[in-house]
Amino acid sequence: MPPRTNAKKAKAEANAEDKANAEVQAEADDTKPSFDVDESVAAAVLSRVPDIRDRLALGCVSSVWKNAVTSEGAWGTCDLVLDSELGKRLTDERFGRLLHYCVEVKHLEVCDAPAAEFEGNFLFDEGIAAKFASLESFKLTNCPDVDCARVVDFMNAIGMTARPKDKRLRYLHLAGCDVESLHEGVSPMVSLHDCLAADQDDIFHLEQGKKSVPSVIRVQNKANFDLWWSVCELIVPTSEVKICNSCTSAFCGSCAEQQGSFCDGCGEFMCFECEERSDDLFEVSCHGCGERFCQECLLLSQKINICRGGPCSDKEGTDKRCFKAYCEPCQKKKNVTFGMCFECFGVWCLDCAYDKDGPCLNTCFGQGGCYESMCQPCYEKTNQFYAFCFGCNEGWCPKCNPGVDFYSDPDSSGTLLCPTCAGA
Ligand SMILES: [Zn+2]
Ligand SMILES: [Zn+2]
Ligand SMILES: [Zn+2]
Ligand SMILES: [Zn+2]
Ligand SMILES: [Zn+2]
Ligand SMILES: [Zn+2]
Ligand SMILES: [Zn+2]
Ligand SMILES: [Zn+2]
Repeated sequence: MPPRTNAKKAKAEANAEDKANAEVQAEADDTKPSFDVDESVAAAVLSRVPDIRDRLALGCVSSVWKNAVTSEGAWGTCDLVLDSELGKRLTDERFGRLLHYCVEVKHLEVCDAPAAEFEGNFLFDEGIAAKFASLESFKLTNCPDVDCARVVDFMNAIGMTARPKDKRLRYLHLAGCDVESLHEGVSPMVSLHDCLAADQDDIFHLEQGKKSVPSVIRVQNKANFDLWWSVCELIVPTSEVKICNSCTSAFCGSCAEQQGSFCDGCGEFMCFECEERSDDLFEVSCHGCGERFCQECLLLSQKINICRGGPCSDKEGTDKRCFKAYCEPCQKKKNVTFGMCFECFGVWCLDCAYDKDGPCLNTCFGQGGCYESMCQPCYEKTNQFYAFCFGCNEGWCPKCNPGVDFYSDPDSSGTLLCPTCAGA
């Protein structure tokens, strides 16, 4: 235990310090810049605060700010974006109040509003058409008590379809809301489609008319409307829909299982009708495991390879290919390797590649090589020279050639050697 006197001293020092701190604090309070502004300044500042959370936080600063934040139309033209965190606390009454602060809403976004608390009743308030006169996107997602048929009524009330087509909604998201009432015939869905500036499946048709996206799955999330009218007349959200890679018809999960097939590599779907008509999408199945792969998995991601030859294959002397196909894991299991010509993109299994009638692939496999190969016809056509060292038996493409050259040796007139073997 420290001597008493020391403890006393320490306490006295601590008290003095507290007192000094208190004085500094008092001084600071006197000179502290005031955040109390009048309401017109507050309103001007407010017009530059885009985030709802920040606006509501400002309302807690002082009564002037509260008045500025919460008076009718104080928010001017704005985006009403309530993310999951705010959405979870939303009630119809609260939403009505938020709407009251806005003059015009350009983007409306609410997600995860609780059932029984939020039905979207505000959509039928008086004067609603003016508030939504410049509405560009409407996203109510995962709000289970919002009836989508009432969204149709709302769009009619604000005159969405009376606008010129290109001035209509850029996005309409309703997944996770109550879609039951949309099933009454086709017309509610047609009405919702009419609210859009672009067609829902435009994302698949970058070139007019013809489907031009190789992978439908990769782009379907970008559709402007996130509900799909399936061939079995159900309304299916983007997260569950299966869209045919060829005809872009939408299928529910169970119909897709029965009426089409999936690529085992990427999950891409094609309906049987299209599969019969087209000869390409799922033609490649692995000879090892039987899994089937789409063209994208074959050509772009190379999850499967097939000994299909190349454009040169129909020329004399190179017509060697066996159409053997193996997926990546089976290639490893069966120890099958494929080689590709980087000029014509022909692909051969190694048996065919080095068959006497094969394309005789030249490969850059020497030390520091790039492993690119070229078939003999392309080799001749492009006037390439693949260097080969007779010392180390390694070869290189023109880009990687370390400087293979003729070197005379004591026994013969000369031989091709790389600088290492030549001791140069
Ligand atoms: Zn189809
Ligand atoms: Zn179905
Ligand atoms: Zn695929
Ligand atoms: Zn396989
Ligand atoms: Zn082959
Ligand atoms: Zn080639
Ligand atoms: Zn190379
Ligand atoms: Zn060498």
